[in-house]
This record gives sequence, C-alpha cells and structure tokens, in this order.
Amino acid sequence: MSDCEICGAEIRGKAQIISVGTSKLRVCSTCVRHGTVVVIKKVLGAEHRNYMNQKEQGVMFA
Ligand SMILES: [Zn+2]
Repeated sequence: MSDCEICGAEIRGKAQIISVGTSKLRVCSTCVRHGTVVVIKKVLGAEHRNYMNQKEQGVMFA
C-alpha cells in the first residue's frame, strides 16, 4: 500500500518520508512541504550524526 498519509492520494513513483514532530509519515510529493523530509539510506560514517539526531527526536525506523 502506498497512499499518502496526509491527503490520502495514491503515491505514484517514490514515496516521500517526512518527519512531523515525533512522527514519520509516508506522503506524496505534494505533501512533503508539511514536514521535514527524512532521507533513509544506509548508515555510513557520515550518517552517524543524522542517526543520532533522529534518535533524539524519537524517530524509529521500521
Ligand atoms: Zn499527499
């Protein structure tokens, strides 16, 4: 399933993950402006800082 969690529209192509407060939402490209885009990628050395930041915000990866 890939429906936008804000507007409910079917997400075409790649879904965008955004962070709103302590929640993460999978949204369409139109709704990304409602939050901060979360880039999910493999944890590399340079990503550690981001990981720690996300941990502080209580964001959990599924
Ligand atoms: Zn949407």
